[in-house]
Amino acid sequence: VKIDDFRVKNEPILSYLKGSKERKELVAALQETAATCEDVPIVIGDEEIRASDVRYQVMPHSHQKKIAKFYYATSDIVQRSIEVATAAQVSWDRTPLEQRLQIWHRAADLMANKYRMKLNATTMLGQAKTAIQAEIDSAAELIDFFRFNAYSAKELTKYQPISEEPSVTLNSMRYRGIGGFVAAVSPFNFTAIGGNLAYTPALMGNGVLWKPSDTALLSNYTVFKIVREAGLPPGVVNFVPADGPVFGDAITSSPHLGGINFTGSVPTFNRLWTQVGQNINRYRSYPRIIGECGGKNYHFVHPSADVTSVVMGTIRSAFEFCGQKCSACSRMYVPQSLWPKIKAGLLAERSKLKVGDPTEFDSFTSAVIDDKAFQRIKSYIEHANNSKNLTVIGGGKYDNSKGYFIEPTIVEALDPEDRIMVEEIFGPVLSVYVYHEKDLEFTLRLVGESTPYALTGAVFGTDQHFLQYALEELKQTAGNFYINDKSTGSVVGQQPFGGGRMSGTNDKAGGPHYVLRWASPQAIKETF
Ligand code: GLU
Repeated sequence: VKIDDFRVKNEPILSYLKGSKERKELVAALQETAATCEDVPIVIGDEEIRASDVRYQVMPHSHQKKIAKFYYATSDIVQRSIEVATAAQVSWDRTPLEQRLQIWHRAADLMANKYRMKLNATTMLGQAKTAIQAEIDSAAELIDFFRFNAYSAKELTKYQPISEEPSVTLNSMRYRGIGGFVAAVSPFNFTAIGGNLAYTPALMGNGVLWKPSDTALLSNYTVFKIVREAGLPPGVVNFVPADGPVFGDAITSSPHLGGINFTGSVPTFNRLWTQVGQNINRYRSYPRIIGECGGKNYHFVHPSADVTSVVMGTIRSAFEFCGQKCSACSRMYVPQSLWPKIKAGLLAERSKLKVGDPTEFDSFTSAVIDDKAFQRIKSYIEHANNSKNLTVIGGGKYDNSKGYFIEPTIVEALDPEDRIMVEEIFGPVLSVYVYHEKDLEFTLRLVGESTPYALTGAVFGTDQHFLQYALEELKQTAGNFYINDKSTGSVVGQQPFGGGRMSGTNDKAGGPHYVLRWASPQAIKETF
């Protein structure tokens, strides 16, 4: 690739239609992945390590089937990977940006062509995504992250000082790595997020420890191998599956900690911040901490809204990938006048959704990720069954005997501040509060005040006065705000993603400024 020829363009999404070449290739990759239990080592530098604490990744829709065997790094192994990443960083940071960009583009091309089916198969079987859900994640978004971040890095480094004293000084800026290792802690729900969290700091000249989620291990290891094949030198990114607290203790107690790039839960993120605070006097530099951690995303419907777009958007946002998106709609506010139609529409569409094997092309969704998630989501359904303020109006069944299956569930809530309306569930449970038109302003305020999160939100309506009013009133309630569209589905380079409040540090994955967070600019004044 000639970098200057490169144009930013989103990777097209394949549709896997019946009889298509891509469907055949995907089916073959699925069969191959399902037939093996891949051995996935810890990788530090060039060394593959198989530690004594052995774990398995299973298929969520069929939890007796193992697809990967892996190993938890001990504290000593994490320590060793810190040394390797810190050493590798020195020469990597001296590698000209052009060369680094070449590796990123090669990796993106390998993902788009040679390994697309492998990435999708490991994501489908390991994380229970359907073909189209995997294609959007482990193909399109992952590839986009590599290409767009490479573009943003190039754009960032173009900035040079705009003023100097002629013939006496030459001012310039260069964009170094941050001078410490970065720990990337990634979630199960998007393979692409793991790729972004681990590799964007690397792109900017840092050494990285990547701790993948246990339940996304195989797809994440596939990404790791692809980028090595593309030419990333060993030791720049190290693959370190580990127990969360063991990993957290080891990284936060190292003087070389340069940053943490995190997506996961609020309690884990808060624990890491606390540990960094406790260790603050040890560090050689202030660690950069960026994170995205959850939401309680809303759809707010105005009486002027188009019922069909509300219904279709809500079904997709609440139930695609079993609601296991940080951005998924989990609470809805509907005016009394529209509720009969919207309710009928939601129930009719809900009953058409097939929840099953992710490899069957007519499945809408599959299982939730593991038993811990299953139990948590189930407890909210039980809470709804036991509460006089809540009524389960659709779905509500669950069964974990073969896979971790939970029906898409709709709950009507009489109390807009019931915990089902304000706590993150991260599963296929949608709660609806029906408001009286005269209480519109009060209800709109409640959207922002009733939960600590502010990730995504959507308003539906055709009344321009209302839309303007909502835009201001809901300003701090969502980092990604949608008007007449569902709250999910942000696209790299189109809607940079992230939220504020307890949803995270809002550094906008897929946006132009993300790369700057992993660079340490140096201003150079040369005098003649
Ligand atoms: N970017 C995705 C979306 O807008 C969600 C990512 C996430 O779940 O963290 O749907």
